[in-house]
Amino acid sequence: MIKRNIYKSVLGAIVASSMILASVPVMADTEVQKYTNTDFAMDTVVSETLYTTGDDLNASIGEKLREVETGLLSWTESDSQIAKINSADGKTVEVSDELAGYLRQICQLAEDSDGAFDPTLGQVIRLWDIEGENPHVPDQKELDALIENVNYKNIVLDGNKVTLKDGATLDLGAAGKGIGCDVTASYLKEQKDVTGMILNLGGSSVMAYGEKPDQSPWKVAVTDPRDTEGDYLGAITIKGGEFLSTSGDYEKFFMEDGKRYHHILDPKTGYPVWNGLTSVTVVCDNGLLADGLSTACFVLGLENAQALLEKYDADAAFVDEDKNVYLTSGMKERFELMKNTYTIKKIK
Ligand code: AMP
Ligand code: MG
Repeated sequence: MIKRNIYKSVLGAIVASSMILASVPVMADTEVQKYTNTDFAMDTVVSETLYTTGDDLNASIGEKLREVETGLLSWTESDSQIAKINSADGKTVEVSDELAGYLRQICQLAEDSDGAFDPTLGQVIRLWDIEGENPHVPDQKELDALIENVNYKNIVLDGNKVTLKDGATLDLGAAGKGIGCDVTASYLKEQKDVTGMILNLGGSSVMAYGEKPDQSPWKVAVTDPRDTEGDYLGAITIKGGEFLSTSGDYEKFFMEDGKRYHHILDPKTGYPVWNGLTSVTVVCDNGLLADGLSTACFVLGLENAQALLEKYDADAAFVDEDKNVYLTSGMKERFELMKNTYTIKKIK
């Protein structure tokens, strides 16, 4: 039997966000106003709490996020820059400075993770259709044919010029919400009235900006991968200017013959990654990288991910099927365990 969990995770995102909102205390400074909003953009629930002496920015932030989706990243909007690159049939396409910058970060991360993070999985992701109407285990021959085209080295970047070689297709889904967080952070920097904000995209990518009026830390709930509608597994503290991202096997999946087919794929096999991990949460000072690193670390597994996290000066929490939580040294200071069914363990 095929079972999907997309709606559950959207609901989880709303609950996660309301939990964050509920924990915001009353402001001390009467000049600063607090605005809380829920929106829908980038295919997900957007929750925000804004502190400002000026106007509510909910509408313009929603617009910025929708622009990221429709103008840059979408597969389905034929005018998006990614759709244009994918339909160019190997010809060179000139992209915006913004997208060229993101692609440079993404290709570097693909190389640094030794291809665990690979933005050319596009066709393979479509074949599984985990997010679509007909999620299914693909025919092995079809999968083998498409996996041939997966290789981040087939992305040729020359300034603003992008060429995809050998049938590669781009899908930036593993970094898209993080890009949305970066775009929002840059926008907020131009808004002199804003004193602080927390933005949560779908419960999986979070941006913290500035401070709360009482200067208490921003806290983000961590979902229990095996109890997505229940209590949270823990909470992580982040500062203004930091970004958090979670990749988990519970976010999009279907079950068949007792096996969980989820949305994080091993670029070498084209199959979901089954390495005992159920989620990885990463905190660092860049949204795209937090998002990309959480996906990369999920694929690499606990031990192999450590060097990558050190290189990017990022903190991480790994959760496994045996209900262990492994924290990097920087994460130990941020993480608060909220469920006694989980145990914090040392990374060897
Ligand atoms: P995330 O939830 O950020 O870990 O991103 C998962 C999404 O990224 C999936 O739904 C796919 O669209 C895409 N994806 C899956 N596996 C990979 C991978 N190994 N490298 C890059 N993107 C991936
Ligand atoms: Mg990601």
